[in-house]
Amino acid sequence: MKPEYSISSLTVVTPDKIYDKASLKVVNGKISGFEASDEVDIKLDDTYVMFPALINIHDHLFGTYYPKIGNGPYICWLPWDYDLKSSPVYSERNKNEPFDIYLLGSYKNLISGVTTVQDHIPHKINDPFIDKLPIRVIKDYTLSHEVSAYDLKWGDGVDIEYERAIRKKIPYITHIEEGFDVESLRGIEILEEHNALSEYTILIHGIGFSDEDIETVAKYRANFVWCPGSNMFMFNRTAKIKDILDKGINVSIGTDSPATGELNILEEVKFAKKVYRNMYGEDLSDRVIVDMITKNPSKALKIDKILGSLEEGKLADILIIKRKSDDPYSSLVSAELQDISLIIMEGKPLYGDLKFSEYFDIFNSDDGKNDDKNYEKISINGCDKFIVGSPKTLMKKIRKNVGYKKEIPFLPI
Ligand SMILES: [Zn+2]
Repeated sequence: MKPEYSISSLTVVTPDKIYDKASLKVVNGKISGFEASDEVDIKLDDTYVMFPALINIHDHLFGTYYPKIGNGPYICWLPWDYDLKSSPVYSERNKNEPFDIYLLGSYKNLISGVTTVQDHIPHKINDPFIDKLPIRVIKDYTLSHEVSAYDLKWGDGVDIEYERAIRKKIPYITHIEEGFDVESLRGIEILEEHNALSEYTILIHGIGFSDEDIETVAKYRANFVWCPGSNMFMFNRTAKIKDILDKGINVSIGTDSPATGELNILEEVKFAKKVYRNMYGEDLSDRVIVDMITKNPSKALKIDKILGSLEEGKLADILIIKRKSDDPYSSLVSAELQDISLIIMEGKPLYGDLKFSEYFDIFNSDDGKNDDKNYEKISINGCDKFIVGSPKTLMKKIRKNVGYKKEIPFLPI
């Protein structure tokens, strides 16, 4: 890939600041500043908007499949888990190799603008796959499945996992109060008893949070992850998000797996906006939503020194979309798959409109030595794109394994 280039004359959203007709220079996979390069300058115009590439803070790549599974509303996640594991969709998913399901989850995220995913699953499951995927999957985390007596016992238990997180300065991540039974509703109390609440704690769901729980989460400066699509599908209820935001808690939005969540992060943010309007009769601002898929998750995951915003010295993880309205934040929140124009990870283009393939010499390399050959052309909702790897081969393999022409709407190829 080119060691130095710039992308110019477009709107750049850092996301704290908006620069019009701006340039961003990339050198050796990092952002080197807001100026044009003397080497290669890709000139665009103000019909394009640049953001930091998105971070999906909560997914289960191992659970990537379609359609959704469940027959709620449930009292907690446990009866859903029984429905999941006895479902014909689950059996069909299991006809595929785990690595292929991981690839499918990576492509789901990539084509919606995401280069970084937190895969909530024990290390022993995702360790063999992470380095072979086209996107970045967070390696540094500790976890629990959740903290009730009947949880799935992922990891080494709250005390050991949390201590490990603090020692390594990495996040301790757990589902919490994903239900309304007596045990679920004690989630925050249980974590407080274990001294496992701090800025290193990431709490997912919290649909059972009481006002007191929210106070406690704020007091310890723990991070919160909102998955409205999954919550509404399983429980017909979601967390008291306005109260959580009013307390100044660091909130990010995650998709959860497509077994219960929205199709991808773009659909999830649209759904979040809709749910908020239904709950409170007012709009959650697009500016706030953009923070929840860029800055806020980078802070929660302790990667904000290298990712989450466009700043000199950070990794060049870049998303460029087509502008849909005057407000660039609204353009992102209302973006559809076909509006994703270019995605770059550490300076390397992974996906985008076919016209960008020329700037990066994709498909033109003939020395056979670099990785420029590892791309293919696909059509997403009628738009021609280049993409890293071969999702066409993946879909062919999945269709062969399941024995019919499986259609997957989060990878519509
Ligand atoms: Zn989850």
